[in-house]
Amino acid sequence: MNNFEYRHGELHCEDVPVSRIAKEVGTPCYVYSHATLLRHFQAYDSAFKNIPHVIAFAMKANSNLAILRLMAKEGSGADIVSGGELFRAMKAGVPASKIVFAGVGKSPEEIRDALKADILMFNVESSAEIHVINEVAASIGKKARIALRINPDVDPQTHPYISTGMKKSKFGIAADRALEEYKMASSLDHTDVVGVHAHIGSQLTDVTPFVDSLKKVVTLIDTLKAQGINIRYLNIGGGLGITYSEEKPPLPQDLADAILPLIKDLGLTLLMEPGRVIVGNAGILVTKVLYEKAGETKHFVIVNAAMNDLIRPSLYGAYHEIRPLDEEAAHRAKRQMDIVGPVCESGDFLAKDRLLAAVKPGELLAVMSAGAYGFVMSSNYNSRPRIPEVLIKGGEIHVIRERETYDDLIKGETIPAFLN
Ligand SMILES: *Cc1c(COP(=O)(O)O)cnc(C)c1O
Repeated sequence: MNNFEYRHGELHCEDVPVSRIAKEVGTPCYVYSHATLLRHFQAYDSAFKNIPHVIAFAMKANSNLAILRLMAKEGSGADIVSGGELFRAMKAGVPASKIVFAGVGKSPEEIRDALKADILMFNVESSAEIHVINEVAASIGKKARIALRINPDVDPQTHPYISTGMKKSKFGIAADRALEEYKMASSLDHTDVVGVHAHIGSQLTDVTPFVDSLKKVVTLIDTLKAQGINIRYLNIGGGLGITYSEEKPPLPQDLADAILPLIKDLGLTLLMEPGRVIVGNAGILVTKVLYEKAGETKHFVIVNAAMNDLIRPSLYGAYHEIRPLDEEAAHRAKRQMDIVGPVCESGDFLAKDRLLAAVKPGELLAVMSAGAYGFVMSSNYNSRPRIPEVLIKGGEIHVIRERETYDDLIKGETIPAFLN
């Protein structure tokens, strides 16, 4: 459920017509609904209310400071994957005691900064990384809390680029090597082995892979306990899918119902890292039609948003529903079209071979479900300034990130003197 709906013939975000937002901040722009964000977070949180838990919002899905603050105020922590994300999380006021740090390539500097900030734990992805964390911790006289990220070799039935828990994946430590690594980690002086972590992929539309993964993890936890390695945290990652088109993903409550029986008696604190399911359907990308163009075999609608603003269609062949802001326009005769941007790449499209109601230059469109992996993946390719982000709360319009200027584009660049 979300707060983007037609009222009086116009697409609204909460109480504001999206056309008014477009008028105030221009297009393209990202628009987020405060109410949807809150509801999604609370649905996840309350589904797990009967077990001690921490939600660490996977901030790579959307790392705007205002969104992070909003989450933190609801009690969320953050799942970070870089020093930059640590910086953002701290700026936004996310308590360090609820920050977990994943990623296969953490640098010694990033590890040191996270240790100094006293984050909850590192989700460690390799044997070599355990040693580096131990060394860095020793060098500053600290003990690093760690969980090992286990690769349970489960197929999450999602896009290969967002499958992370299969044998061929670069993530985690193979389940059958885990015990050995846990023993090694426990023998080190500057690590405190506190958890087990598994995150098998993103946009999962069925609970079965979660359950299969968890069964393997629970078996491992039992083995570890028998060996005297006392695990206190179980981190099940994120990955719950959303409806982009026809998908019928489980609700957070369905996930809770499926997994809680497996873990409720373990006496552990549950950690979770949802990203997409919180922000995906809480945001849209608003764009304007510039031109129509009849190709030899195709009809193109050229809009002012492009792959540099929203790369998911180009990168994953992802489907995003496209709606006109004017409800009337949705009833026009349909035709097959490609919705493409101005970037000079044939891979620059927002929709391909899509049957949509006819649109005209000057009209505004909403690209739905764009709140996750949208702005955060945007770039300046083709020297296009990155676009603004707007948070709507009831009838209020809050610009939470300004549109970049041309000067922003060249920030940090210099022409060496020899070229003068
Ligand atoms: C990306 C990621 C998540 C979030 O995934 P979603 O599908 O957005 O919920 C959680 N944990 C880790 C380790 C990740 O890499």
